[in-house]
Amino acid sequence: MNKGSYLITLLSSWLGRLCSLVAIGWAGYVCAEPVELLVQNTHSGNTYDDWFSAFIWTLFCLIGVVVVFIGVIIRQKLTLDKAINELKGLEEGLQEAQSIAQMGSWSRDFEHGTTFWSREARMVLGLGDDQEAFKHYETLLHPDDIEGMMEAVAIAYHQGGGYIHEHRIISPYDKKERWIRLAGKVFLGEEESPVRETGTVQDVTLRRASELALRESEGKLRSILEAAPYPIMIFDISSAPSLLYANQSTYYLFELDHEEANLSGIDLHSLWGDDDSHTQFTDSFSESGVTNFEVLMKTQKGKVFWGMLSSTAMDFQSSPALFISVLDITDRKLIQEELERLATTDTLTGLLNRRSIFETANKEIRRAIRYQNPFTIIMLDIDYFKRVNDTYGHATGDKVIQLFAEVCLSCLREEDALGRVGGEEFVAVLVSSTIEGGRVVAERMREAWEAMVVDVPGGVDKFTVSIGVSEIITPNETFDEVLERADKALYVSKSEGRNRVTIDKGEGVRAN
Ligand code: GH3
Ligand code: MG
Ligand code: MG
Repeated sequence: MNKGSYLITLLSSWLGRLCSLVAIGWAGYVCAEPVELLVQNTHSGNTYDDWFSAFIWTLFCLIGVVVVFIGVIIRQKLTLDKAINELKGLEEGLQEAQSIAQMGSWSRDFEHGTTFWSREARMVLGLGDDQEAFKHYETLLHPDDIEGMMEAVAIAYHQGGGYIHEHRIISPYDKKERWIRLAGKVFLGEEESPVRETGTVQDVTLRRASELALRESEGKLRSILEAAPYPIMIFDISSAPSLLYANQSTYYLFELDHEEANLSGIDLHSLWGDDDSHTQFTDSFSESGVTNFEVLMKTQKGKVFWGMLSSTAMDFQSSPALFISVLDITDRKLIQEELERLATTDTLTGLLNRRSIFETANKEIRRAIRYQNPFTIIMLDIDYFKRVNDTYGHATGDKVIQLFAEVCLSCLREEDALGRVGGEEFVAVLVSSTIEGGRVVAERMREAWEAMVVDVPGGVDKFTVSIGVSEIITPNETFDEVLERADKALYVSKSEGRNRVTIDKGEGVRAN
């Protein structure tokens, strides 16, 4: 009832009472006059009419009072009927709710030894309609569940309070087996013995059947996972990720100890080979998971290996889980790395090959332009190399080329790059070096090579090198243009007598 209608009811009830009082008062007032007249007339020789008039007025007054009382009684009756209807409505609602929830209520009175089962409770238990006062619930219990049920209620019977237990019952009527969730509460009397017990029964057969089906399908899933030739793990991700399940292949790859393995103690973080791997994994993980994600992983004994990981999130044992399968791709990665190395390296000297040093140079020139840094290259060609081959043979020629590479490398800084671009031709890329710096380095190389005494068949020999140096001049220049000017400078060194360094500054060349 809202506040407005409550006030109206209150007001009308008090108004009714006030009217009754006014009616009675008015009746008294009206009667007073003829009674007074009657008394006066009696003293002064009374008449029959006065008596009659007094009687009529008193009768009216009494009728008025009776009408008021009848009104009050009718009003009370209406209020009672309304309350009864509301109660009936509530009861019907409760019954509907119970039948929707397949739940019924019951109560037991220990003093009188009586039990009451609601209609829904009788339906849930498969009892007949006339079994409202059915007494021996324990006779319905499945033999395997009697003990569990007794244990569950024992404490409540001793100490009072509630209990909940799920068990099977077999209906004496349809002989069907049902799963029942029995919830009850025991109330103790003054002597600490149960006086009343009340509760609910709910049919949970469908839920139990689906749980069983789920368990069976999870069992099948486990057998499939067990037979899989590669590691599969299931992590519980409801809180801190911990390992729920690992198949046989996981034990082998991740070096888990069969005897001591406490799976829940293994968390997702312990799988990563380094700190970056975990970040890479979480960054690449989307709603659909990750597929063929290559990452450094680690066994439980600390051995690092390359894993190719696929992962997907789904529910397992009714909680959110992460399925991870891993393939050990360490061998493939090593071969891949070796192939990459071979593709970028010159096999004779171990330096960058032609394609690779040009790629590096192109990258560095773009960076130099962006940051307005200087960029200088040095081009080197061993003098009269044909003669080396002709005199000492091709093998000695190879050895001389290897030695020359070592000499050049020793004259450069770590951030500089050196590559073999032809038979006995080399290019050095100097980052953050002006052409003057390049000239100094080139001169150092030339001197070092000139001073080098090389063992050759039948004795020792010495060799020289001609060098061209150029730098980037305008911001829109390409590496090919800078290289072309270094090549021209090298040509000048050759034509001006070899064993020298020529630098190109854009406005012409100048040999040292
Ligand atoms: P120049 O002073 O003008 O440079 O004379 P050069 O004899 O060095 O002339 P050029 O640069 O044209 O000759 C390079 C020679 O290097 C030709 C080739 O026989 C030889 N050569 C190229 N690649 C290799 C190699 O991998 N091993 C060996 N041993 N010799 C090579
Ligand atoms: Mg040459
Ligand atoms: Mg040469």
